[in-house]
Amino acid sequence: MSSFMDTKIEFLKGVGPAKARLLNEELSIQTYHDLIHYFPFRYEDRSQFHTIDQIGPDSENVQIKGVLDRVEVVGGARKQRLTAVFRDPTGQIELIWFKGVKWMKSKLKLGIPYIVYGKPSLFQTKFSISHPEIEIMTPANEVGKKTMLPVYSTTEKLKRKFVDSKAIAKLQLELISTRGFSVVEIVDKAVLNEMNLVDLTTALRNIHFPTDALVKNKALERLKFDELFFIQLKIFREKSDQKEVHKGIIFQKSHLVHEFYEKHIPFELTGSQKQVIKEIYSDLQSGYQMNRLLQGDVGSGKTITAFVCMLIAIGSGFQTTIMAPTEILAIQHYQGLSEYCDKLGLTIRLITGSTKKSDRKKYLDELVSGEMNILVGTHALIENDVQFNRLGLAVIDEQHRFGVAQRAKLWQKNKHVYPHVLVMTATPIPRTLAMTLYGDLEVSTIRELPKGRKPIKTSHLYDSSRLKLFGFIQREIDLGRQVYIVYPLIEESSTLDYKDLMDGYESISRAFPKVPLSILHGRMKAKDKDFEMDRFVRGEAKIMVATTVIEVGVNVPNASVMVIENAERFGLSQLHQLRGRVGRGADQSYCILMTKKKISKEARARIGCMVATTDGFEIAEKDLELRGPGDLMGTQQSGLLDLKVADLTTDGVLLKRARLLAERIIADDPELTSPAHARMSRHLNKNQIATLKWSAIS
Ligand code: ADP
Ligand code: MG
Repeated sequence: MSSFMDTKIEFLKGVGPAKARLLNEELSIQTYHDLIHYFPFRYEDRSQFHTIDQIGPDSENVQIKGVLDRVEVVGGARKQRLTAVFRDPTGQIELIWFKGVKWMKSKLKLGIPYIVYGKPSLFQTKFSISHPEIEIMTPANEVGKKTMLPVYSTTEKLKRKFVDSKAIAKLQLELISTRGFSVVEIVDKAVLNEMNLVDLTTALRNIHFPTDALVKNKALERLKFDELFFIQLKIFREKSDQKEVHKGIIFQKSHLVHEFYEKHIPFELTGSQKQVIKEIYSDLQSGYQMNRLLQGDVGSGKTITAFVCMLIAIGSGFQTTIMAPTEILAIQHYQGLSEYCDKLGLTIRLITGSTKKSDRKKYLDELVSGEMNILVGTHALIENDVQFNRLGLAVIDEQHRFGVAQRAKLWQKNKHVYPHVLVMTATPIPRTLAMTLYGDLEVSTIRELPKGRKPIKTSHLYDSSRLKLFGFIQREIDLGRQVYIVYPLIEESSTLDYKDLMDGYESISRAFPKVPLSILHGRMKAKDKDFEMDRFVRGEAKIMVATTVIEVGVNVPNASVMVIENAERFGLSQLHQLRGRVGRGADQSYCILMTKKKISKEARARIGCMVATTDGFEIAEKDLELRGPGDLMGTQQSGLLDLKVADLTTDGVLLKRARLLAERIIADDPELTSPAHARMSRHLNKNQIATLKWSAIS
């Protein structure tokens, strides 16, 4: 059934074939449905007024009423600008124009009331607004406009063709006013009532043209609910028919674990590690296939925990594998575990992209024959020719670096029955989020760090103290230690960030002419990256200048200093991950967060949190708290789920309600055959709901 919303966009008044092509190419808008789901990313709230004394360093756009006091042209002929003092009963602010100076000057009149709209910025101690919108106050606009104006993101190409935010707003208005405008409701009535949600037509109308913030929030809540609810519904429906399908191998108690505990383990396991091993062991005996997520802070000792579980599998005559996202990490696992394997008489091998052909062939033979007990590797080990004899347990380290397809392939490595799967991550996330992200995974958590770790000393320095920083780095290097210096490269394509990194590299080379440096960033070829990293791992390079590519998993115990440049630009969890690269050896380690003097309130809070604590879970909680609802970037994780409006870090309450509801509905009506669930059932069947399937093969 083709509905109104399936109509091609070119049939909308004001669009036509050329503009339709453009909208399609630039914004993937092909149909009415696509257009109406292209939401504004913010609004200009012109219904409210501010007073000048309310303006602060974190002010977004403000709308103020007042009069002009002084209007003058300043600066020489080349840098001419127009400045005006704008005053209300609470204070004054400067307005500045760099363009159209003469024309503006002729327009502005002293002494009559104006309405000004724009974003204040702070220069030294004074606030000003450049190129504000300004209009004479009239009885009509004095009370504020009746609506919030939607602002849409567009591309440079669209703007050149005059499809700017205003033009998109016009198209939305046109669509909404088209005769026959209708939206197929996807949530059944009882659910809307119970959750107190507006219907979809209202939500879509109001997300574009809300009359006020309350109306907008109601619309947004409905749209967020849809995203979160259908994911949950899908997860529960699949879960209900999965349990029987995936029978699991049952492992027996193993002498190997005993031997390892009694004779070889170099330290006492923490209580947390023991608890997690117990949880996993009970899965491994349950008769069902295990799909478990192991989360634990950086340095909490996930590897050895996983190794003990691998011994359980090996003790029952099965093979195991551990897959890491990078070659460096795979090598580190291989080297670390080899030591134990030698003592236990187990065969462990490493396969990566750079394994020699002849070695690879030999290993693959050992694998098929069952001679090999543990295979460590990168994604090279999921290639088709890698065939196990009896794979019993697959461990995946730092899972978020792998694609879903890569994981699924690993599952198929045992022909008879799916192997048990343990995925590990150092990104601590609160429980509800974990349940949504890894819908079908059980979650275990290592909460404590091994005893005797020296907490990393973290400090905040301003750019002006760079000499002091360099002195400190030199002293640590003289003591034989190594140093990371990390630059933000938020987007791999950002040329400006890239330049920052290269400038930094140059100034460090100049400051430390005799010290061998490594450099690492995403634009380098894989081979060069490995080479540079390897030099640092082996201790030849003393300073590693890098982007966040080093974020995950790298273990260089001799590195004792982590310097993070422009730290204000990093999120909390990222700062924490980076800091986790040091403090892995016996030495006291340091993390130094460099910023300019003036940073936003939020950035200051993030940095304050980093200085105050090294506990990853505490930091995760703080992170949730600090991210306002206005954080449109969302989380890295929600990117995986393809969420457009919901944000897993801030919509926890809604998520929980949606989850409980979905669980109850599926418990009552597993196949969604009841007429009361007809709309939701139809939507679920008709649409690809992106859930993350870690455990099953599609
Ligand atoms: P992560 O959880 O970040 O992967 P690792 O498994 O790499 O952490 O462990 C970090 C370091 O801590 C390793 O050198 C490991 O040998 C050590 N370690 C792990 N568990 C303990 C423990 N219970 N007591 C002391 N050291 C431990
Ligand atoms: Mg690790």
